[in-house]
Amino acid sequence: MSIFEGCKECQRLSAAYEATTMEWFRLQGQLRIAEYSHEEESSYRIVAEINSTARRRQALRDDIEKHELAAHRRTNTASS
Ligand SMILES: [Zn+2]
Repeated sequence: MSIFEGCKECQRLSAAYEATTMEWFRLQGQLRIAEYSHEEESSYRIVAEINSTARRRQALRDDIEKHELAAHRRTNTASS
């Protein structure tokens, strides 16, 4: 993924993507602890949060791709 210098939207999207990635890792850690302590209810809750975070992350990745195509057309022209 590339960030275009001076593009506010690229910066906003990549910051949001990074924050969501950090959140995903944090939840993975929580899940490991919950599973280790056999806390089934929290495990279910955390798994649900992981899934929604993963969806949000995927949506952001799509947004980044769409934005790059729309605003920075010259990139990613490896295939025709
Ligand atoms: Zn941009």
